Amino acid sequence: MSEPVMGRIHSIETLGAVDGPGLRYVVFVQGCPLKCLYCHNPDSWDFNKGTLTNSKSVVENIKPYIGFIKNGGVTISGGEPLAQPDFVLDIISRCHELGLHVAIDTSGAINLGAVSHIIDAADLLLLDIKAIDKDVFKELTSVPNTATMKLLEYTRVTNKPIWIRHVLVPGYTLDTTQLEKLADFLMLYPNIEKVELLPFHKMGEYKWQELGKEYKLFDTREPTLEEVKDAEDIFRKRGLIK
Ligand code: SF4
Repeated sequence: MSEPVMGRIHSIETLGAVDGPGLRYVVFVQGCPLKCLYCHNPDSWDFNKGTLTNSKSVVENIKPYIGFIKNGGVTISGGEPLAQPDFVLDIISRCHELGLHVAIDTSGAINLGAVSHIIDAADLLLLDIKAIDKDVFKELTSVPNTATMKLLEYTRVTNKPIWIRHVLVPGYTLDTTQLEKLADFLMLYPNIEKVELLPFHKMGEYKWQELGKEYKLFDTREPTLEEVKDAEDIFRKRGLIK
């Protein structure tokens, strides 16, 4: 086995049920190049914060949970996992040695040339598409959509299984025209196994206040159940949501 690789993590969730198939051990890494207006972990942005650790230690901590997650696996989320490629690649290799399935949860907003080998190594990609409209994407995330779209295309060419995640934000992405455009666009990708629409929520709002950051969605409401169902119907009609 290779030498352990140093990296920074934000937190862990030992038994998560919402970040990929089955029960999963979720490692949230520290550091993100985006600044999503709705981020519920703005304390994960700073690459110099979090806990300094190494890949071997991360995987040693997973071992006691193997019995619970053997039919699920490990998800590396963030922050942005692809921003610490060597660290994450070594975690994937060590998990594979243990026979564990590994998913990467990413915004894809990272230079593909530097991370395509991580995508190749992962068993599943959870790709967050923040918006289909490029202006809304920029407004929501502070970065252009170019890298995410390139990465999505790479998964099609390499036939990498992916789940798409999309947050429904009133005033931004909760919009029939945009949702239809996104659903039509995703139909072009046969490697997409699942689409998850996640209603915007305000659970992380207090963290923005604690960090002294301006929370621009203070007046934005959460979507209603009916709005979420209508949005899902757009994807259901196209066979993207069961
Ligand atoms: S990509 Fe995720 S961690 Fe990064 S700012 Fe957006 S929501 Fe937060």
